[in-house]
Amino acid sequence: MSIAKVEPLTTARALRGPFDYRLPAEMADLGVGSIVRVPFGHRRVLGVVVDLADSSELAPERLAEPIEALEAGAPPEMVRLGLWIAAEYCSTPSRGLQLVLPPGTGAAGQRVRSRQELRAEIATAGEAALSGGERLGVRQRAVLEALRAGEMSAPELAAAVGSDRAVLRRLEQRGLIATRSSRVRRASHHPAVGAPAGRPRLLAEQEAAVQSIVAALDGEAGAPRELLLHGVTGSGKTEVYLAAVEAALAHGRSAIVLVPEIGLTPQAVARFRERLGDRCAVLHSALPDGERYDEWRRLRSGEARVCVGPRSAVFAPLADVGLVVIDEEHDASYKQEGDPCYDARTVARRRAAESGAVLVAGTATPRPESWLELPRLSLPARVDGRPLPPVRVLDMRDGDPRSGPLHAETWAALEGVRAAGAKAIVMINRRGFAPWLTCRSCGHHWGCPNCDVSLIVHRDANRLVCHHCAHSERLPRACGECESTTLSRAGLGTEQVEALLAERLAPMPVFRLDADTTAARGAHARILAAFGEAESGVLVGTQMVAKGHDFPEVTLSAILDADATLRFPDFRAAERTFAMVAQLAGRSGRGEAGGEVVVQTLAPVASSIVHAAAHDAAAFLAEEVERRRALRYPPFSHLTRIVLRAESESRLERAAVTLADALVPTLPEETDLLGPAPMFRVRGRHRRRLLLKAEDRQATVAAVRDAVERLSRDRLLREVAIAVDVDPQ
Ligand code: ADP
Ligand code: ZN
Ligand code: ZN
Repeated sequence: MSIAKVEPLTTARALRGPFDYRLPAEMADLGVGSIVRVPFGHRRVLGVVVDLADSSELAPERLAEPIEALEAGAPPEMVRLGLWIAAEYCSTPSRGLQLVLPPGTGAAGQRVRSRQELRAEIATAGEAALSGGERLGVRQRAVLEALRAGEMSAPELAAAVGSDRAVLRRLEQRGLIATRSSRVRRASHHPAVGAPAGRPRLLAEQEAAVQSIVAALDGEAGAPRELLLHGVTGSGKTEVYLAAVEAALAHGRSAIVLVPEIGLTPQAVARFRERLGDRCAVLHSALPDGERYDEWRRLRSGEARVCVGPRSAVFAPLADVGLVVIDEEHDASYKQEGDPCYDARTVARRRAAESGAVLVAGTATPRPESWLELPRLSLPARVDGRPLPPVRVLDMRDGDPRSGPLHAETWAALEGVRAAGAKAIVMINRRGFAPWLTCRSCGHHWGCPNCDVSLIVHRDANRLVCHHCAHSERLPRACGECESTTLSRAGLGTEQVEALLAERLAPMPVFRLDADTTAARGAHARILAAFGEAESGVLVGTQMVAKGHDFPEVTLSAILDADATLRFPDFRAAERTFAMVAQLAGRSGRGEAGGEVVVQTLAPVASSIVHAAAHDAAAFLAEEVERRRALRYPPFSHLTRIVLRAESESRLERAAVTLADALVPTLPEETDLLGPAPMFRVRGRHRRRLLLKAEDRQATVAAVRDAVERLSRDRLLREVAIAVDVDPQ
């Protein structure tokens, strides 16, 4: 008898699968990764086969059979990876498996399928009918004429000669054509934003890096299989990835290339597509379901051998992966925010290790973790020997009020760009017009009714908007408390900077890139393309402007609030700030005209800013690693964060204390438990946080999982949501 162990795709935490089902003879070919619909209690649910067995502990008559198997399943090794994630990130098997299933597979079934298309071919009798003067309708004749040149699809025929299905059916009945149904690929469209054509000759450092990767691919003794490619911005890392991918393909292996959030990197995708053609598939969540499904199938079938995409591309259903590249490995978007809060960099290392692949993590600003743990390849200089741009740090603590939020030297530099007809990038880490609205007469301050935060003034939309929930309201003209009309907008956002620059730098065009201007599909690429094509101009925006793109005409980049990220109470604040300043600096001076960088800050002596200004990642990392060691922060410990949320504060408090009490006796020694500490309210829910600092990651995660599972069965705590984040960012 064959038994399938099936993990149901349900969200309940308290449910412990997998469950046994008896496979009927017609389902004997199901395997690990097959998706089945099964009876489950009074319901029918989808489940994933996670194992096969010859016998069950349950008597055969107590076992049910699956009702049906679905079109596409996941590869067995991906099922193992999904279950590993569930355990590693304190999630449920169902949530872990969901990550590796074909796109569009949900609890309800598979929303997407392959698209089939009718294709027609002329038959010998059809040829004869045309020349033999047989009676044919006008449309019928037109179809046959068209098919003489070769096979065509029904939609092509419809476009060419206006035929419909009825005409084709009639012709087929008469034996004049033959038709068949064939799977078509919904083509994904990726605008080529300045993808450079051709294949440059690699520089010596690039060549050396590629050689190390090839040695690892060859399995040479002593060649490290995980590598950090530390290359300053513009040092040609992407060319190294491309050569490494080609080498993996030449070894008969496949490759995965992870890039930061796709909206941010149309250029990177375009370069891979251009070089590798159809062997390269792109997977990301912004693709329409049908296209994503087709790309997934191409990877699963082996038609495509390279997958490029953001974090979820680590689950590409490729067989025999030989290379995994993580581009911009410092990027925060590799961490998933919802359950399971997996880190694609950690998953990539696991996947590479399991499939015997070489892992290459590349960046100009490595994380302290990678710096310590991975052997380094380095590209110390920009290609063509262009120098890194000089950085001027401008102290804003005693700012000149006349120059407003921009320092006089920042204005002068921008005016210089206008005079030279060049381009500039200006970054400000907040979207909207201004982050605070207050009444000058009575001091009233507009806050979000659902969250403990201020509402942000959005002047374009004429609204006050909460950046933590969906709340927005009309921008008031007068104070609701005292009816005064003197309202003050304090602080600075992208909209305001855009307005200031447009006014003072006219006629130089200003382009804004932030979450508001890029909400529409394709808008991000369009704005970058417009900036790229403009003769001269300024690109202003949030962190998005610092990422990945390559515009040689940019001679100035400016960051207006370099310490904004430093003020976060987070041990990664310094690392983030360093990366942000260094990345933004990397956007300037990529062309022959050279470039410069200005950094406005209230913390001009902070280590992250000083070292970023000197382009000295090694010095920054040396200090940062020591600081982390002293404070026992990652990579010298493992953090796990538990956030509890509830509408009722008393219920929440009780839950947090109960959870902490339940945890303490089960935690391994040397694990510190901090909290429960209050966090600010979001979406009408109060929040409490517990933070664990552990030596023994697995034992700690297991203790948390047990405690959370026990608590989620407790009726008293029903209305309390608990989220666990292992390795929080
Ligand atoms: P990075 O990824 O390190 O920022 P890129 O790979 O994007 O750098 O390279 C920066 C620019 O230099 C690109 O326009 C790229 O085409 C070009 N480039 C890279 N390597 C070479 C080379 N060996 N010779 C000439 N140009 C190169
Ligand atoms: Zn007032
Ligand atoms: Zn809100």
